[in-house]
Amino acid sequence: MAVTVKKAKTDSIINAVQEASGVDLSVCFQCKKCTSGCPVAKLVKSPPSEIMRRLHLDAGDELLESDILWMCVSCETCSARCPMGIDVAAVMDALRHLAIKKGASKQEGNVPLFNRAFLKTVQMFGRTYDIAMIAAYKIGSLKFANDTEKFPTMLKKKKIALLPSLGADRKTTKRIFKKAKQKKEAGK
Ligand code: SF4
Ligand code: SF4
Repeated sequence: MAVTVKKAKTDSIINAVQEASGVDLSVCFQCKKCTSGCPVAKLVKSPPSEIMRRLHLDAGDELLESDILWMCVSCETCSARCPMGIDVAAVMDALRHLAIKKGASKQEGNVPLFNRAFLKTVQMFGRTYDIAMIAAYKIGSLKFANDTEKFPTMLKKKKIALLPSLGADRKTTKRIFKKAKQKKEAGK
């Protein structure tokens, strides 16, 4: 029996994602290697391979409400594992941008606060600085006592540095943030 492949509408999400990410999504053959390596796959309703499949099926704006967009930690494991060289993490980024642009974003819990704290410290110190980020997050969330029991072990194992990195290129980072702000203001 002949199979009819429906051509994506020009204003479809898949076109917008391909344009924003520069990724050719058509080569995905659903091997699910992206999902098997994704640290949040078991916590979300649609793991990365399913997002890819739904994009192929010309999903509508409901795709922008997927919880993985705000659970994804941008570790890029999916991109590294994809045998077709698809940058799945870039697809997630593109979907996040679209979700914000279309007002469809459903950022769960304190995810927006965490994102702001992270970006602010990168902007200020040129690289992520854990102590400042934790302080900003705790002040914002008012959950001062949460997870503090892990702090001594993390310090002992050098998972957290008390001082910001001296090797960070703060000038370049500031320039990147400035450019991103200008692009945002220009609506690009
Ligand atoms: S690893 Fe690549 S080819 Fe396999 S399902 Fe994921 S995106 Fe598709
Ligand atoms: S970048 Fe996001 S989607 Fe990809 S493996 Fe990491 S958490 Fe999962």
